[in-house]
Amino acid sequence: MTEKKGRVFSGARPTGRQHLGNYLGAIKNYVALQGDYRTVYCVVDIHALTTVETTRELALNTQEMTLDWLAAGIDPEKSIIFVQSHVPEVMELHTILSMVTPLGKLTALPTFKEKVRDNPDNVNYGLVGYPVLMSADILLYKADLVPVGTDQIPHLEFAREVVRSFNHRYETNILVEPQAKVTQIPKVVGIDGERKMSKSLDNHIELAATPEETEKRIMSMVTDPQRMRRDDPGNPDVCNVFSLHKIFSSEEEVEEINRECRKAGIGCVDCKRKLAANLNQHLVPFRAKREELSRDPNIVRDVLEDGAKRAKVIASETMSEVREAIGFYGARE
Ligand code: SF4
Repeated sequence: MTEKKGRVFSGARPTGRQHLGNYLGAIKNYVALQGDYRTVYCVVDIHALTTVETTRELALNTQEMTLDWLAAGIDPEKSIIFVQSHVPEVMELHTILSMVTPLGKLTALPTFKEKVRDNPDNVNYGLVGYPVLMSADILLYKADLVPVGTDQIPHLEFAREVVRSFNHRYETNILVEPQAKVTQIPKVVGIDGERKMSKSLDNHIELAATPEETEKRIMSMVTDPQRMRRDDPGNPDVCNVFSLHKIFSSEEEVEEINRECRKAGIGCVDCKRKLAANLNQHLVPFRAKREELSRDPNIVRDVLEDGAKRAKVIASETMSEVREAIGFYGARE
């Protein structure tokens, strides 16, 4: 067996059943990385508390998201898959790291300003400390690499600064500066043809939807807004249906649509039907696996329990080193 290259950490909020945007933006990459790296994937349920209005669906969303991860090919034999709150050491590290993080730095972050704009009535303390908790996630597991899109590089730079501050303050080198593993993450636009695919905007296509539901969603997709009638030529470059064809259809089909759309040789209805057929075909193995996994009511619980045990081994070790570096009473035996 070839030696794995280093540890990768990534976390995602429990958002329930996953959609195409989650799949293309994260899950596919998670699956690809697990062959070469020691991968740690976390359902960050504590992060979710900063903005959710109710936790009624938190457990169910964790269950459904994990099921989708497993069905899509994240393999518990190759990756540690666990829930953030099952390894509470992350909260201890969060508190400790918050002591080496200037408040001004946190409130000046564009992501904080954005969150304040989105949740003006719920600017809680946790929201300000969000990047510190995110750093704690990464640093607790001594991740060498964190998969990020180019827009997330500043978040990682923040975690690297936290490492430098901690190591400098306590004259140690136990925390590891994580590196960005920059990945080309496609921006997946929702069926409205305008905004990023998102469950909250109800413009998404769920991976676990039935073929009929998937076709229905695709048939309602917004296409080239200038193409009003069947005999108007269209412009695939501005059409989200075409963007998805480029991912799920064969090269020949993509070429054909690109050519025919421009001279009104193909109508949008047929074009969408083709996409629905190809996407449904692509999702056959995922759906079969999900169906098989769903028959075992304990599978998700077992995978997450085992993942938490394995994650805890790493977390406990890091926290012993952290406590020792700080010099807490009894930490230096
Ligand atoms: Fe979009 Fe296809 Fe219609 Fe062209 S034919 S505008 S690519 S849906």
